[in-house]
Amino acid sequence: MQKIEHIGIAVKNLEESNKLFAKLFNKKHYKTEKVITEGVKTSFFKIGPNKIELLEATNPESPIAKFLAKKGEGIHHIAFAVTDIHKEIKRLKKEGFTVLNEKPKKGADNKLVAFLHPKSSHGVLIELCQEISE
Ligand code: ZN
Repeated sequence: MQKIEHIGIAVKNLEESNKLFAKLFNKKHYKTEKVITEGVKTSFFKIGPNKIELLEATNPESPIAKFLAKKGEGIHHIAFAVTDIHKEIKRLKKEGFTVLNEKPKKGADNKLVAFLHPKSSHGVLIELCQEISE
């Protein structure tokens, strides 16, 4: 793994949260994006070399809706940048982690992503992400 790519925060209302985090960071989010397949609407903030992703559910079946119902708003996942997501999935499976989607899928921000089940990583949902090269 290369570095923390971003930290994902689950929110009830993206628009309101964008305003609050803009005050906190003293700058606006630089993009919003809907990931239909995941049932989420996201926005991204850049703070120095780091990124924060806010996630709002777009339907009741969304993993974010389920997370909010169970745990309320807060840190949802930590994403790590990897150079070869397929290789990393194989390696982590071998190490005993539960990979939620063994076939990487297209996530927000032009990335291929895969998630590790929080049960296999002390309650932390881990996202692996690899930049999609054009
Ligand atoms: Zn993410």
